Amino acid sequence: MPTADLEIVNARLPLADGGELFRLAVSGGRWTAVEPQAGRLASPEHEPIGAIGFERLPSVRRLDLEGRVLLPGFVDVHMHLDKAYSLPFVRNRSGTLLEAIGNYRAAAPAFAKETIRDRIVKAALRSASFGSATLRSHLDVPVHLGRDVAMRTIEAALEARELVSGFVDIQYFPMYFYDPAMEGELTEFAAETLRMGVDGVGGAPHLTPDPAAGIDWAFRMATGFGLPIDLHADETDDPSVKTIDVYCDYVVRYGYSGRATAGHLCSLAAMEHEEAERLIAKMAEAGVAAATLPAVNLYLQGRGDRGNVRRGVTRVRELADAGVKVAAASDNIQDPFHPFGRGDMLQIGLMASYAAHLAGEEDILTVLRMLTQVPAAIAGVREYGVAAGNPASFAVFDAASAEELFQELPAGRWVYNKSRWTGASELIRRRYDDSPTAASPSFAE
Ligand SMILES: [Zn+2]
Repeated sequence: MPTADLEIVNARLPLADGGELFRLAVSGGRWTAVEPQAGRLASPEHEPIGAIGFERLPSVRRLDLEGRVLLPGFVDVHMHLDKAYSLPFVRNRSGTLLEAIGNYRAAAPAFAKETIRDRIVKAALRSASFGSATLRSHLDVPVHLGRDVAMRTIEAALEARELVSGFVDIQYFPMYFYDPAMEGELTEFAAETLRMGVDGVGGAPHLTPDPAAGIDWAFRMATGFGLPIDLHADETDDPSVKTIDVYCDYVVRYGYSGRATAGHLCSLAAMEHEEAERLIAKMAEAGVAAATLPAVNLYLQGRGDRGNVRRGVTRVRELADAGVKVAAASDNIQDPFHPFGRGDMLQIGLMASYAAHLAGEEDILTVLRMLTQVPAAIAGVREYGVAAGNPASFAVFDAASAEELFQELPAGRWVYNKSRWTGASELIRRRYDDSPTAASPSFAE
């Protein structure tokens, strides 16, 4: 093996073929070797990672992972970073989606740009500390509350992205709320934000006065700018709501296979099986990806039910079996849409595992793919994964197997991204909490 910046032995790669334990090398921020080992290697030149404090880690060139799991950086493909940690200011007594939306709208005009920016920075850094390398966040842009209110969030988001760019990549998909009465204003606003550097078109057509017209408008914007589209779809227990049907038609019409994602799909779980199967087959055929948000939908859905309460999580297994790309993601963190969560994809994987009955040995790997390879493909992350030539973006976990990741949700994590160790979870979190407004992180260089 030629001299490398980092040489690793005894790494467990549950998603890789060809062996259990691997010998790895990193040079110039890229994997230069990924080689299966015949067995556990006893090498006195390699220091056990568990015995190295984070402060000294950057100076250690030969590491022994002692059989710990190493995964490519998580891709959390559906978040709302701008709303994260707003719970103390915006409550939700009923626990419903509609109250969350209403209360957030009422509070939004009072949030300063700096407040929103700091929330995004905090949520992004914490996510990075748990092992995420790429985040896709929807953004609240209520143009009907005033152009300045909506633009404030875009500006905050772009500033925050700069601040955390040494730690994690962020994609933004503003949720444009289509109302035919305001089309001119909305189109002008959306065009400006797309020129400013947001990454795609978002929205929630099922919550708008004319969903089909909203989908039509979203495709005109996305195709006009040549950008992907990611819509909230049918986040309701009402089985008659199926904007996904029209969404698929548009994806086919505009040739958007592989560039369109549908989040939530709760009504898909509530409807008759035959109708759900028809829509799932249509999604597979059209090339529409899905994001399930198990934590948030377990919290928000089924609130009107008594007795056998619907749990709101979409048909994960059926979608995956039909060939639809299904990712699991965080959605909301400590806000009126979801009081819990911390941007930890292992926690989300555990929720997905419970909610979708994915807990067998093979299922665990399916869930791990839903947090890594699948959302990476959805987000268009190029050169993703632990393979020679790809960027070395990874996290090491204090766990000796894929199952143990979910059994223990290990606190011990070491995160490498952007050609350096960006953090051990504890360190990033502690530093951030010490000085939240000075979060532009100069540490861990
Ligand atoms: Zn969402």
